[in-house]
Amino acid sequence: MKTILVAGGAGYIGSHMVALLKERGIHTVVADNLRTGHWQAVKGGAKLYVGDLRDAAFLDRIFTENDIDGVINFAAFSLVGESVTDPLKYYGNNVAGSQSMLTAMKDHGVKRIVFSSTAATYGEPEKQPIEETDRTEPTNPYGATKLAIEGMLKWCDRAYGIQYVALRYFNAAGANTDAGIGEDHNPESHLIPLVLKTALGQRDHIGIFGDDYPTADGTCIRDYIHVRDLVEAHLLALEYLEKGGESGVFNLGSGDGYSVKEIIDTARKVTGKEIPAVVEPRRAGDPSVLIASNHKAAEVLGWKPQRGLEQIISDAWAWHSSHPNGYEG
Ligand code: UDP
Repeated sequence: MKTILVAGGAGYIGSHMVALLKERGIHTVVADNLRTGHWQAVKGGAKLYVGDLRDAAFLDRIFTENDIDGVINFAAFSLVGESVTDPLKYYGNNVAGSQSMLTAMKDHGVKRIVFSSTAATYGEPEKQPIEETDRTEPTNPYGATKLAIEGMLKWCDRAYGIQYVALRYFNAAGANTDAGIGEDHNPESHLIPLVLKTALGQRDHIGIFGDDYPTADGTCIRDYIHVRDLVEAHLLALEYLEKGGESGVFNLGSGDGYSVKEIIDTARKVTGKEIPAVVEPRRAGDPSVLIASNHKAAEVLGWKPQRGLEQIISDAWAWHSSHPNGYEG
């Protein structure tokens, strides 16, 4: 049976990918070391292999036991701040893990991979909205590791004919309320879950990291994309590669930007809670505005995000309010 291998499938975005593949009746196996993922997030009976991508014997076993047709690789560390203080942890896990995955694919004759990249590959943007051809100059090791992997993918395509799609995510948020999965990072650093944890009373306020940016209300603007829209793009990317599509890099964002204050206001409306907010100093390394051009993904992959900000926040709210302690209950 043709099978898709989802590496990092117990993580936030990976688990939503697994749920979608299952919904579409696509046989799926998951590899995850459970360092940041949750076994409870792997739904639909997908087989979970627990191990590290850098362990060649572990990957060899997965590729031997299954007829892997394509790989979707989400497995990575993704905390920007931590990547600055411990870059070797990020190069070691992210770059070496992908290298090991590509080696296993080469050895087993698997020719298609969809890779989770990031808007952090751009660094401080040249212009808005950001296009895939814009300068890539990451300002932190997390973005640098993802850009290094994009380079590795390009050369592996040329040398071994491994076709790839690298997807540069903007700000993923939301949840899958039907599957009972959502965002559960420890520690949590992302705006929307922190705002909703404040609404739940788990924090006494949300900090707004700077209100002196050159934006309309002074707070940073980001492009928020529903995790469901995001994983649907991965499926389209796989289908595109199956049809013989050329390897490439694509932005995944809504094309719309919202400020930190707009996010908090929308969350107040959705939850009906007060959500106290306090202006705090800027967070180092935050660009003022990040908005995706999603034209390439629309034209080439046929991808069109369907879910707006209110749905992102209301789905996230349904998850956080029903799982106040994440997967622990
Ligand atoms: N942010 C904030 N308070 C928080 C967390 C984040 O004001 O407690 C801001 C952050 O400065 C950025 C935006 O919210 O402008 C989104 O941050 P997040 O960490 O969710 O994603 P990033 O854009 O860094 O990938």
